Amino acid sequence: TQRTLVLIKPDAVRRGLVGEVLSRFEAKGLSIVAMEHRTIDAGQADAHYHEHVEKDFYPPLRDFVTSGPLVALVLEGDEAIEVVRAINGATDGRKAAPGTIRGDLSLSNRENLVHGSDSPESAEREIALWFPNL
Ligand code: ATP
Repeated sequence: TQRTLVLIKPDAVRRGLVGEVLSRFEAKGLSIVAMEHRTIDAGQADAHYHEHVEKDFYPPLRDFVTSGPLVALVLEGDEAIEVVRAINGATDGRKAAPGTIRGDLSLSNRENLVHGSDSPESAEREIALWFPNL
């Protein structure tokens, strides 16, 4: 079994899609191991997205992820990292496949509703960053 860090981003909270997003993960069979409603500051955004802080798209991304509350959670299950990324769909909601969260519900490559860790190393780092007591 594996754990992964998921963010239900501020656009999903604003649009009232938290339940819709959560229900897809739950219906798949993943377990919620931790969950918190939180508004983050720029420092937490930079720590989370440390690999992107120098990129051109980062300043508006930082503004977006700090723009309102989000829901951070840890999901657990067999191959949870890959399974969550498949459920989330491709980064750009305009290109993500129908049936995925982004493909069904997002029309943007920035406001794409969710984040999921992309490797076991990222999952370990991100879980420690968001839920240090876990
Ligand atoms: P995540 O890491 O959030 O699950 P991802 O792995 O599909 O998404 P990354 O390439 O790691 O995508 O980018 C992280 C986030 O940065 C994306 O989810 C999106 O919100 C934003 N982003 C990525 N590329 C762009 C871009 N070209 N323009 C605007 N925002 C972008």
